[in-house]
Amino acid sequence: MKTLDEILERIEFTDSCWTWTAYRCREGYGRLNWLGNPGKLAHRVVYEECVEPIPAGLELDHTCSVRHCVNPDHLEPVTGVENIRRAVKETCRRGHVRTEANTYWFDIRGYRCRQCLDCRRIMRTR
Ligand SMILES: [Zn+2]
Ligand SMILES: [Zn+2]
Repeated sequence: MKTLDEILERIEFTDSCWTWTAYRCREGYGRLNWLGNPGKLAHRVVYEECVEPIPAGLELDHTCSVRHCVNPDHLEPVTGVENIRRAVKETCRRGHVRTEANTYWFDIRGYRCRQCLDCRRIMRTR
């Protein structure tokens, strides 16, 4: 998978959890092939696409205890993230620095998500 749209097609939205409907590993986590990387955790990919990059070494905690849930509202980077987050320069997954001008905001089920316009341009020209 390469785009957020492909991910959204595999989510079943309920009033609380966003259920991952595609492949789940033995531990019960949703997994997918993301940008050529097999076995990426679905909830981490959704969080990074909709919220922000997860600082290196940090885990996402499921506050709802549903392992195959990918709702960013139910995911919380473990303690200490605030300090690290401030030190990390805000970039998209391809390393474009995030600015107001290159950020496209949209809405998934009332959840504010954003995409990098530089990346969108790259994907369109492929
Ligand atoms: Zn959940
Ligand atoms: Zn980008």
